Amino acid sequence: MIRTRFAPSPTGSMHIGNLRTAFYAYALAKHNNGEFILRIEDTDKKREIEGGANDIKDLLTIFDIKWDEYYIQSERLDLYKKAAEKLVEDGHAFYCQCEAKNAKEDGFSKDLRDPCRDKNLTSGAVKLKVPENEWITFKDFVLQKKVSWNTSTIGDATLFKTDGFPTYHLAVVVDDNDLKISHVLRGHDWMPSTPIHILVYKYLGFDVPEIGHLTDIMDPDGGKLSKRKGSTSVRGLLTEGYLPEALLNFVILLGWAPKDNREMFTLEEFVKYFDPNGFQKGNPVFNREKLDWFNGEYIRKLSDTELYEKFQFSNSNFQTMEENKKLQITKLVKDRIKKISDLDALAKFFWEEPKEIDMNLFGKNYKEHLTKAQEAIEKSIPLDTVSKNNDFKVGDFFMDLRIAITGTKFTPPINESIEILGKEKSIKRIRKILE
Ligand code: GLU
Repeated sequence: MIRTRFAPSPTGSMHIGNLRTAFYAYALAKHNNGEFILRIEDTDKKREIEGGANDIKDLLTIFDIKWDEYYIQSERLDLYKKAAEKLVEDGHAFYCQCEAKNAKEDGFSKDLRDPCRDKNLTSGAVKLKVPENEWITFKDFVLQKKVSWNTSTIGDATLFKTDGFPTYHLAVVVDDNDLKISHVLRGHDWMPSTPIHILVYKYLGFDVPEIGHLTDIMDPDGGKLSKRKGSTSVRGLLTEGYLPEALLNFVILLGWAPKDNREMFTLEEFVKYFDPNGFQKGNPVFNREKLDWFNGEYIRKLSDTELYEKFQFSNSNFQTMEENKKLQITKLVKDRIKKISDLDALAKFFWEEPKEIDMNLFGKNYKEHLTKAQEAIEKSIPLDTVSKNNDFKVGDFFMDLRIAITGTKFTPPINESIEILGKEKSIKRIRKILE
């Protein structure tokens, strides 16, 4: 039975890389009729944020990821304590009383070998007694290669702290064993911890599960993904107006590829087609244009009513529009938006009269164009007829009209826009320019 887990720490908002780990772990389990476990790793109380665990659950639910079992490490402290004590008893760990002085943030000692290791202390923090000059090797099932370390390069890591909480190194091993996790999938950042875990598995007499480290997601400008060009937190991207379906599709292809060139995947399809041989070895680049493309595709797949509801939920100006106009606006912008939040830029003129319009935007015949357009709107004569009868250049005529009504060159089709805006408001805007 394949059992995978997603083991986030509730220490900040979920990042796009964490979401990717969750999708891969979920698909690996579900493709094989296995089980997917959600485990909250809340052992670092100093870094924990309030509501963090609920936020993680809420986000996974938005993406339709359902977990078969759920655990919180802070409710399992006894288990870790016992394991720590056993390691000391068996001579593989020792008590240390200079924990704070000699520990770095990540639980490693500043010195590789801790001064307390031979003192035979009987209380304090518990640290791993790392042996000298032994080789630790494992085969990474994502990278498909063997990775080795010599223990002489590995520090005596803290396993259990004096605050009664384990560190990640101990809790992750105890839990992955206790919960019968068959495949561990995690970000590349965690690679340096793996030899420590392998020692702990061995000393506790546990079998080592399959372990795989996912590639790093890179920024288009080089380096690891950063926030320079917009949000990289899942919550932030959802708020920006990316649909969960589009984010899912985009994220799963950052580091995994199907055998054929298929591009569109629902979660169900991803589970069906998932194959661990599809993991890519090179670091993928977070290409925002690609994400926008996916999002546009998924927006077009929504029904008008579904899209209307998303606008209604996210745009307070849209909410104030007359009910019958809302659906009309929705239909009008549907083909033109990449994100739900694009509504405002494209349709703002419906709820807000354009402020100072740059007069340089108009063509040289704008006065004539607008005078005729105004008459036509008053008398309900089709604008195309006006343009034809007066021998106007169609493009120029409509561009001047568009700028007068909306204040910009880029808008939905102008005929329909005028219809939705209404005669009165349209004429008023044209007059203002002609004055
Ligand atoms: N708690 C770690 C994290 O926040 C888990 C790493 C792992 O999956 O082992 O990513």
